[in-house]
Amino acid sequence: MNGLTRREKLITDIDTVIDILEKSKVLHLGLVDGDEPYVVPMNYGYTMDEGKLTLWLHGATQGRKYDIIRKNPKVFFEMECDLQPFEGDVACKYGISYTSLMGRGTAVIIEDSQEKQDALTFLMKTQTGMDFEFNEKLASVVGIIRIDVTDYTAKHRPLPKK
Ligand SMILES: Cc1cc2nc3c(=O)[nH]c(=O)nc-3n(C[C@H](O)[C@H](O)[C@H](O)COP(=O)(O)OP(=O)(O)OC[C@H]3O[C@@H](n4cnc5c(N)ncnc54)[C@H](O)[C@@H]3O)c2cc1C
Repeated sequence: MNGLTRREKLITDIDTVIDILEKSKVLHLGLVDGDEPYVVPMNYGYTMDEGKLTLWLHGATQGRKYDIIRKNPKVFFEMECDLQPFEGDVACKYGISYTSLMGRGTAVIIEDSQEKQDALTFLMKTQTGMDFEFNEKLASVVGIIRIDVTDYTAKHRPLPKK
């Protein structure tokens, strides 16, 4: 993979990827609005089905991100967890240890009520660890976006050795 410095480690095992998905809670969704980038922070749910990652977003039923996705459904996302700032004896030895995941995919605006209810259950499971059930009425008032992830990479920047 490009973009790794000698201090950073590429993460390839699925359990660590799932750990990042469980812990991060917020992703930054990158969209392309004509010739202008647009990034929106959002909570998410995830499903990992035989290695295929899907992300589930919820919110209002309209707004700028919806307008963009209708024109261009290609998205990029990033999330991070385990942030640990560290100090050094000189400015350039300060830094932050982190674990992060980013990737690209296609956004799909979901209309089917059952899929919306399932998405809300996935989202609440990821966000709270708990199982919630939703009905058609609750699903009808929220907008759901499914991100079909095509590929992703994950990396870890450890704390410096003492
Ligand atoms: C930690 C976090 C978690 C969030 N989780 C969710 C979520 O799960 N679902 C959800 O729908 N929203 C969430 N939000 C809010 C989200 O970032 C957007 O504000 C919201 O989704 C509206 O997006 P939109 O493209 O429809 O914006 P619009 O309402 O159409 O925004 C119009 C303009 O307002 C400004 N704007 C929009 N959002 C923000 C922002 N977050 N900060 C500053 N300026 C902004 C931009 O200039 C934008 O062009 C979260 C925000 C944060 C910070």
